[in-house]
Amino acid sequence: DLFYRQMPKVELHAHLNGSVSFSTIEKLMARKPHLNIEHNMTAILSGQKRTLDECFQVFKVIHQLIDTEEDILMVAKDVIREFAEDGVKYLELRTTPREDKNTGMTKRSYVQTVIEAIRQCKNEGLDIEVRLLVSVDRRHGVEVAMKTVKLAEDFMRSTDGFVVGLDLSGDPTVGHGGDLLPALQKAKNCGLKLSLHLSEVPSQVDESELLLNIPPDRIGHGTFLHPEVGGAQSLVDKVMKNNTPLGKNVLSNQRSTIKVYEYIPPHKHQSDFGPLVFCSIQTDDRGVFCTELSKEYQLAASTFSLSREAMWSLSQKAIDFTFAPDSLKQQLHQKWFELHPSLF
Ligand code: 5GP
Repeated sequence: DLFYRQMPKVELHAHLNGSVSFSTIEKLMARKPHLNIEHNMTAILSGQKRTLDECFQVFKVIHQLIDTEEDILMVAKDVIREFAEDGVKYLELRTTPREDKNTGMTKRSYVQTVIEAIRQCKNEGLDIEVRLLVSVDRRHGVEVAMKTVKLAEDFMRSTDGFVVGLDLSGDPTVGHGGDLLPALQKAKNCGLKLSLHLSEVPSQVDESELLLNIPPDRIGHGTFLHPEVGGAQSLVDKVMKNNTPLGKNVLSNQRSTIKVYEYIPPHKHQSDFGPLVFCSIQTDDRGVFCTELSKEYQLAASTFSLSREAMWSLSQKAIDFTFAPDSLKQQLHQKWFELHPSLF
C-alpha cells in the first residue's frame, strides 16, 4: 500500500545485523562464496515460525558474512538507504560492536565505521536522521559490558551527537541481567540513554525488577511484564511510577513463537499501562523477518481495524519517545505537519 510507504515513520527498534536485506546478503555471499551460506540460513521466510533459539542461530550466520569494516560500511549504508526508501524519517539503529582477529576489525573501528556510514548517508542528502545505540550483548557478561559502555561514552563525547544511548540485548535465556547492573548504571550516569530488552521471555520477574530500578529510559518488548502473562503487578507498578516508556514491537515478532503475547491490540496495553505506554510499530530485525516498516504498519492497521489517521498519530507519537534532542524532535513534528496534507 503506497499510503504506508509514503507516510513518514519513526523506527526506534532496529538491530543493524538483523536489518540486512536480501539484496545486501547477496552481495555479501558473493564476497564470501567459500562460506556456502544459503538464504534460508539468514532469514525467516513468511509463514515460517522459529523458536527464539533458532532466531539467534540466524544472527550467528549473518555475523559470519559481515566481518570486515568494508562489510559493515556497505551493510550500514544499505540499511539506512532502505529505511529511507520506505519513508522512515528518523531511525535509531542499534548494534553490538564486534572484533575479528583475522580481519583486524576492532570494536572501536566497528562503531567508527557505522558512524561513517551515517555520515556518508547524511552527506548524500538522504531524507533520514539516524542515531546510534551501542548494544551490550548480555551473553558476554559484565566485564565486556563495562568496556562497551566506555566505548559508547567515548563516541558519545567525540562525535556530533550520533551516539545517543546504550541497548541491552542478546539471547534473553542466557545470563542474568542483574550481573550487568554496574555497567548499565555507569552508562546511565554518564548521560547515555538506556533502552533495555526486558521480560522478553517468561520467568524473568527478578531480573526485570532489578533492571527497572535503574530505571531505563525505554523498554524494548516487555512482553511478559504483565501479571496476566506470568509477570507481576509490581513490575507494572514500577513502569507506571517511573514513567518508563514501553515500546511494544506490536507485530514484528509474530514469527517467533515465544513472543505471541506481544501480538495484542495497542488499546489493550493502553488500558493496562495507561498513557505511558506507546505502542510504536517497529521492525526489530527487518532482514531476518523479511519485512518493511510500512508493511508492519499496514498489517497493524488491518489486524486491529485502525484508520489511516490513527496510524498517522501512532507514527507521530513515536517522535516523543526518540532519544533525539528536543530541537530535532521539533523538526520532526514540523515535517509530519507539513506532509500531512499531501497524504490525506
Ligand atoms: P547486531 O547487534 O549484530 O547489529 O544485531 C544482531 C544482534 O541483535 C543479535 O545477535 C542479538 O544480540 C540482538 N537481537 C536482535 N534481535 C533481538 C531480539 O529480538 N531480542 C534480543 N534480546 N536481542 C536481539
